[in-house]
Amino acid sequence: MAGIGDAHLVDPAPLLEVRDLTVEYRVPGGRVQAVSELSFDIGPGETLGLVGESGCGKSTAGRALLRLEDIASGAVTFDGDALTATSRGRLRALRRKLQMVFQDPVSSLNPRRPVGEIVVEGLRVAGRSGEECARTAERVLREVGLDPGRFAGLRPRQLSGGQAQRVAIARALAVEPALVVCDEPVSALDVSVQATIINLIAELKERHGLTLVFISHDLSVVRLVSDRVLVMYLGRICEVGEVEAVFGAPRHPYTRALLDSVPRGSADGGFAGPALAGDVPSPLAPPSGCRFRTRCPVAVDLCAEQVPESRQVGDGHFVACHRA
Ligand code: ADP
Ligand code: MG
Repeated sequence: MAGIGDAHLVDPAPLLEVRDLTVEYRVPGGRVQAVSELSFDIGPGETLGLVGESGCGKSTAGRALLRLEDIASGAVTFDGDALTATSRGRLRALRRKLQMVFQDPVSSLNPRRPVGEIVVEGLRVAGRSGEECARTAERVLREVGLDPGRFAGLRPRQLSGGQAQRVAIARALAVEPALVVCDEPVSALDVSVQATIINLIAELKERHGLTLVFISHDLSVVRLVSDRVLVMYLGRICEVGEVEAVFGAPRHPYTRALLDSVPRGSADGGFAGPALAGDVPSPLAPPSGCRFRTRCPVAVDLCAEQVPESRQVGDGHFVACHRA
């Protein structure tokens, strides 16, 4: 089967290859497939945006990429290493190359530790000397714009949301990662702080040659930071391509509905418009065929009968829709 990943090989060799990634949760009454047969590549230095409404499986996918989630089937390969088939020890070493920044910065930090220790937790676990940890703590705090003299001794609850997110970013940086998954990194922050954190992430990405997965329900943020964008609905890929191609000429009805739902000129980009009426169906009983068909304005009988395969519609632009 020609999936998106098979056809969409980025050049040079991808840093991360995801093939048919499926993640399930056991819930009362059965199993939920939160992510279904996700396939894509990420090239070194690239930023891939992951968008879709709440509950579409973005966070699950992000965590599964780093093996923080059990994988039901499929494969994730990082820089030639199959994360899905590697030993525990090797995975531990690889994990330092794969870091995550979460939505809620304060609760992602150990409340009992001072900031200066939190940011080098990873190095300490790796057995680095106290001197090296102290030096690195000072460097990464400066890099995220926090004066070490003022912040190293504070506890997370003494920080503002923006400061806490800077600490979380410093902690990710300290282990010199290659890939960072940012899961809604600014969604919990005041609008006035969001731009400064986005700029910081963009600047650090450039300086350190990082590869990013940037998860957000906010299309305007994703458009700003991403090279390519991947649109998910109920665990499946709808559309993937260069950000300007997907946002400028969306081909999947879901992508179009998401874009139409963004109130013009809105800073927060919420889905308030009429284009996406109704809720996402329960993943316990996803619609047959195309999962979006129950809310799709152009669905036909075929859409209930067959899962749409992804088709190339432009340079690096793929769409899984019978009607595109
Ligand atoms: P998103 O990040 O796009 O909002 P999530 O990945 O958090 O979506 O969730 C995808 C689906 O998986 C949702 O239906 C959610 O309820 C379900 N889910 C997420 N985490 C768990 C869990 N730990 N146990 C059971 N179901 C979960
Ligand atoms: Mg999420």
